[in-house]
Amino acid sequence: MPGFELFGDEERKHVNDVLESGVLMRYGFDGMRNGHWKAVELEKAISKRMEVAHTQLVSSGTSALTIALASAGIGAGDEVIMPTFTFVASFESIIALGAVPVLVDIDDTLTIDPKKVEEAITAKTKVVMPVHMCGSMANLKALKDICEANGLLLLEDACQAIGGSYKGKPLGSYGDLGCFSFDYVKTITCGEGGAVITNNENYATNADHYSDHGHNHVGKDRGAETHPFLGYNYRISELNAAVGLAQINRLDDFLVIQKKNYTVLREAIETISGITMRTVPDGGEENYSFLSFFMNDEETARATQKELVANGVDGCFYWFDNNWHYIKKWEHLKDLKSLGKLPEEVIKGLPDYNSQDFSQSDQWLGRNISVLIKLSWTDEEVNERAQKMKQVLSGVLLETK
Ligand SMILES: *Cc1c(COP(=O)(O)O)cnc(C)c1O
Repeated sequence: MPGFELFGDEERKHVNDVLESGVLMRYGFDGMRNGHWKAVELEKAISKRMEVAHTQLVSSGTSALTIALASAGIGAGDEVIMPTFTFVASFESIIALGAVPVLVDIDDTLTIDPKKVEEAITAKTKVVMPVHMCGSMANLKALKDICEANGLLLLEDACQAIGGSYKGKPLGSYGDLGCFSFDYVKTITCGEGGAVITNNENYATNADHYSDHGHNHVGKDRGAETHPFLGYNYRISELNAAVGLAQINRLDDFLVIQKKNYTVLREAIETISGITMRTVPDGGEENYSFLSFFMNDEETARATQKELVANGVDGCFYWFDNNWHYIKKWEHLKDLKSLGKLPEEVIKGLPDYNSQDFSQSDQWLGRNISVLIKLSWTDEEVNERAQKMKQVLSGVLLETK
């Protein structure tokens, strides 16, 4: 997954353009910029690659999610449906607006289960937020049908699946709004950064203003601009955008490498009995940043992951026990530990996360192992890894039989 493995001359060139002008900010200082507008150029490049009308670059994937929600008018008391397996950012971005994170189970796609989404809809529900975890997507057709039938927005968190597609559309572009992260460990990176994409002009304008203190960006003079509504500083810097510009141009090359490495590993293990591969919805094309599969039971999966790591298969994850990605270990969120007091109106609307039943998610994630696909492996390294995985996976299964 990580674009940081392949930094090169292009990244350096774009960063140097910015350093030579000295204008590190994306707005203003027109006369000093030597014609360089890296954030603007990156927004155009993302819109083109993702086949959407509008892109708003921002400071992170987490802020992209908050801004996407805010741009559509989501606020206090509104319910946003999200999966149990994601990154803490999903929860944070919703509660930051005083909205209510409603968690529902995942299925064999490792993403949100459309049936569970339907069951969770109330009069307060406004948004369904699928998270395309580990390079592959939720069943977007089923989710879109549910959203259309119930008047809800579909917001895709594509932070981990940039470059994948669904029924011919780039992930992130299928819903009403889509979000990407360019943090240091994502498929393409700019250090810290994120983006909101949409075809809705109103949301795009709101996102543009909201991410810069509500500035309306009408003129050349920032000082003379007015503020139609409250906003915050979620701006990306010109330096980060410069790195991102080099990386977006390399995205399709990265995807080719990921797919090649993924395929070697997959072919080595997929026929071993007792292993089932993660389900990819019909019409979906992964971005191949992870190879994810299921073992027969939780005990075997936990032991197998340990053995894989002990045998040198690094970047091999057992997400079930991970405290960033799965609700089971989100004590601070489930107990609403915050530095200051959360507003009463927010607390009142929240479910008791500690007493909810997520046994369906436990069933899938408890049996899952995910292996990170790297870009920098040589063919020899990939083949060696494939052999090791094959040996360990066959061996463990023999022992437990
Ligand atoms: C990384 C990530 C985010 C947040 O991105 P940051 O840029 O790190 O804030 C959100 N959702 C998912 C699924 C992620 O993996």
